[in-house]
Amino acid sequence: MLDLKRVGLCVRCAHNRVTANRRGSQFYLCGLAMTDPRLRKYPSLPVLRCEGFELDEQSNDQGRENESHE
Ligand code: SF4
Repeated sequence: MLDLKRVGLCVRCAHNRVTANRRGSQFYLCGLAMTDPRLRKYPSLPVLRCEGFELDEQSNDQGRENESHE
């Protein structure tokens, strides 16, 4: 839930690629940006609106599961 507020739509998007550095900081990389020039490789967070957003059904199910346990 915290990531949803901090990161926005990318959390539940099929195009996101989460990377981490050695110190454990996470970065949200947009995989669609490789082929769609409208998008940024590292989007400004939180992403509240995005033309490339596609729901990742798995992340949505996990989100629902987590929400039901809160
Ligand atoms: S398409 Fe948009 S919502 Fe999806 S990962 Fe890229 S920037 Fe985030």
